[in-house]
Amino acid sequence: MRIFNCPICGLPWLEGVDEEKVRYSYEICICCGCEYGCDDTPTYREQWLKKGTPWFDEQQRPKGWNLEDQLHHIFPGWNAG
Ligand SMILES: [Zn+2]
Repeated sequence: MRIFNCPICGLPWLEGVDEEKVRYSYEICICCGCEYGCDDTPTYREQWLKKGTPWFDEQQRPKGWNLEDQLHHIFPGWNAG
C-alpha cells in the first residue's frame, strides 16, 4: 500500500511511498522528527503532542501550518517495523 502522509504526524508527502519502504527507510520526519523503522510509534506521537508538536526542521514548517488538519492523516494503529 502506498501512503501519502507521515504515519506519526500526518505530514503530507509530495509523492506516495510504499508502506514497507517507509518502515525501513530510517529517514527522519522533518515535522515530528521520528525515525521510520526505529521510533515511529504511537508512543512517540503522544510525546511529540505533549511537547507541543515542535518541528524537527523548523525552517520547512509552512506558513499557516495546521496541526488539526494534519492529524486527520495519522495512522492510529501504526507500529514501528
Ligand atoms: Zn512525522
